[in-house]
Amino acid sequence: MDKPCILSNECLSHGYPRVKIAGEYVWQHRYILQLKLDRPIKEGFEACHLCNITNCIEPEHIVLKDINTMKKILELIIKEIEVAEFVQENLPQ
Ligand SMILES: [Zn+2]
Repeated sequence: MDKPCILSNECLSHGYPRVKIAGEYVWQHRYILQLKLDRPIKEGFEACHLCNITNCIEPEHIVLKDINTMKKILELIIKEIEVAEFVQENLPQ
């Protein structure tokens, strides 16, 4: 990421800025990603922040991610935490 974050605090909801388009609120990061892709976000995909800053609207920081892949990664992280906790609890004192 060469470009710095562009932060927006417009109509924040759950930490994500929204913008009113044709009388309806839409998530700014989703809207920007759709403009970037020049098509709607397909089902099963999500607009994700590479910078992990929910109110960043820099188009280079917003990417398309497949939800199933994200779920798998999360499951692996949770498993790793469980293994780490198990090891911690079962270490000889
Ligand atoms: Zn950013």
